[in-house]
Amino acid sequence: MSDFRKDEVALLWDVSELVGLFDTERGLDAFLAQSVSKIAWHMRAAVCAIYLWNAGTGELVLRAYQGLAPGLEGKLRLRPGESLTGLALEKGQPVREARGQDNPRFLRIPEVYEERYQGFLAVPIKRRMKGVGVIVVMDPQWNYFTENDERALQVIAAQLGGVIENAALFLQLKGGTGTPVAERAGADSFGPGLHRVKVQGASGEMAVGLATRIGNYLSEEQARPAGLRRLDAEDFEKAFAATDSQLIDLQKTLEEKLHDAASMIFGAHVLMLRDEAFSGQIRARIAAGEDAYDAALGEIRAYKNMLQHSGIPLLKEKVLDVEDLGHRLLSNLATAGSGEDGAKGMPDYGGRIVIAKELVPSDILKLSAEGAEALVLLSGGQHSHVAILAKALHMPLAIAQDERLLRIPENTLVMLDMKKGELVVRPGEEADLAAMEIVRQRALREQGGEGVKAQTVTRDGTRVSLRANLNLVSELAYAKKVHAEGVGLYRTEFPFIVRSAFPTEEEQYLFYKAAVEQMEGHPVVFRTLDIGGDKALSYFPTQHEENPVLGLRALRFSFRNPEIFRTQLRALLRAAHGAANARLMFPMVGSVDEFLRAKAETVECLHALERAGIPAHLPALGVMVELPAAVEVVEDLAAEVEFLSVGSNDLIQYMLGVDRTNEQVASFYAPHHPAVLRSLARIVRAADAAGKDVSLCGDLATDTRILPFLLGIGLRTLSMDPTAIPRVQRAAEQIDVGVAKAQAERLLKLRTAAEIEGCLAEMADAAAEEEAGNGNE
Ligand code: PEP
Ligand code: MG
Repeated sequence: MSDFRKDEVALLWDVSELVGLFDTERGLDAFLAQSVSKIAWHMRAAVCAIYLWNAGTGELVLRAYQGLAPGLEGKLRLRPGESLTGLALEKGQPVREARGQDNPRFLRIPEVYEERYQGFLAVPIKRRMKGVGVIVVMDPQWNYFTENDERALQVIAAQLGGVIENAALFLQLKGGTGTPVAERAGADSFGPGLHRVKVQGASGEMAVGLATRIGNYLSEEQARPAGLRRLDAEDFEKAFAATDSQLIDLQKTLEEKLHDAASMIFGAHVLMLRDEAFSGQIRARIAAGEDAYDAALGEIRAYKNMLQHSGIPLLKEKVLDVEDLGHRLLSNLATAGSGEDGAKGMPDYGGRIVIAKELVPSDILKLSAEGAEALVLLSGGQHSHVAILAKALHMPLAIAQDERLLRIPENTLVMLDMKKGELVVRPGEEADLAAMEIVRQRALREQGGEGVKAQTVTRDGTRVSLRANLNLVSELAYAKKVHAEGVGLYRTEFPFIVRSAFPTEEEQYLFYKAAVEQMEGHPVVFRTLDIGGDKALSYFPTQHEENPVLGLRALRFSFRNPEIFRTQLRALLRAAHGAANARLMFPMVGSVDEFLRAKAETVECLHALERAGIPAHLPALGVMVELPAAVEVVEDLAAEVEFLSVGSNDLIQYMLGVDRTNEQVASFYAPHHPAVLRSLARIVRAADAAGKDVSLCGDLATDTRILPFLLGIGLRTLSMDPTAIPRVQRAAEQIDVGVAKAQAERLLKLRTAAEIEGCLAEMADAAAEEEAGNGNE
């Protein structure tokens, strides 16, 4: 047995070390060679080998190894299913044997699979559920590899999968015929002077910064800073080294701060930078006499152009990566040319307000890590998941409809004021005032919980529990600061959508465990994956859907992809072991049948874990009420489940048939529509009658105008973006639940949204007057 025991945190640390291998070597093969030596060292294994899948020949090819006779790279080839290595690829599962020879698929290959090696472990490297290679470790000792070793290797394989895919994609590109395209930046679409543009604030309050359009870096006007001297090979090497170390620092920081989301975002940039086909090509152009800046710009443009015209959707998504890397490299070249010290760790987007037509979640994570001040998007809506992620990262985000913003000149000073709903171009002195306000806001956020009470009690002494909605584990610290009484909704899909590969069961287990542990006994409600709709996984291709919001989303996606569903359920059930505070709920449940099917799947996973002797526990199971169908059968659902949670964002969307991400129909997205209010009352009545817990976890929980209604119909648990907790607590303290009940009854009788709107305004005025009166007493 292995004498080298690692705890799980140390194992993940090892993976970070693998990422750090980029420090010294260049290119995929060098990376794989270093990886095998790291793995062999950490596993204390006599042999480690990495095979990669060659789709052209349909073979697994040995690419890097340690501990075997030299000269086998590229020569040893296996078909899927051939030998234990091929078996791991074929099954998509690890193969672990106390003695390799005992497995009937064992194949003796001189100098590779010999009898002298007994302990055997092969783990497939997967990308988007497809095998792209296999990692193999062997050792002379019998039964040498443990289950922990197997899990560790799975984590490593997941990380390697991302690196390998990126490398493969870029190599594949080099076969393309793209030619550089020079883009023209538009003329200043606003003309000189101050301009105000209407925006919808989706997160944050204010921001001031220099405008940067994604997609603008490589435009003709950006081609070369004025007055830059001729740059040579030495300048390029300086810029290359600075870029390389900045990216490694960014990757490390990201992993430390956001371990559930980190993935290989900047690691992929490093790989691209070190790719011979990229930097090697730039070096060749410089050696042929071209100026270093022009050579780099030309090569970056060629890459970008090839990606844009590749016709492969996954490659098109990498355009921003090339832009990002290209901009960084060019900035460092300009710095090298100016004779200044290479600004190590310089965040390229520091102080910038980034304007883009659309961004995917991993872009938002990347821009946040690089210090962008704020984002302005020309698509999406306030309730979109991109907006939710921006909130989680405390990143101001506005949605604008004005296409002119896409032609705003680089480095124009702009100011975002979400309260007024405007973006001010060239704000002049207003910007100074805004800057002071921003400093104040940040200080308030830093203080976090100051003034927030540990418990929320209404004026008449009714206890209300305010919980936090969690997207990334890093938000827990703030949630605790504001005394969140648990996590009412953990959107577990967020770590999935910001990464570039599926987190393994082990990685998921660690995120989930961190959440239950950090909440110290307060409830943590995990929601299983809500993939689909506006939450696509860039690394998992799905068929085009005309109506994705009505398509393969949430539980439907999980049912369709049982391997992904079961992996998550296993991780959740393991995290629930010894954690009485863990709860599990399913999103977008439309019928009792769907709940029963999800429950049966969960119980089956529990039994499988128990059979394997892995500690696990079945937590309380509940459903989200988000579909009109669920409301219509809510009494039957309440009888089956242990708790209900209202997802008001989707309930409003589906009940009213209004796309929550479409700003054009935002005025129809009416939380105070009689159908919504009556549904809410019915859900709470059904839960109460069945004696089950009920809570609400959509954005409606932060609408203090509707709060008296929510308390009036009997809701006592609300879950929300943690930044809203202080405000909602203060509002709840002003409410008398007896009065709120009467108000709710009155509201429920009204027939039109306009009447309800008027009544809510009246109630808010009366409450404000009363508060002022109390203040004068
Ligand atoms: C909701 O629909 O209200 C909800 C909380 O879930 P999500 O916003 O993640 O769809
Ligand atoms: Mg929802």
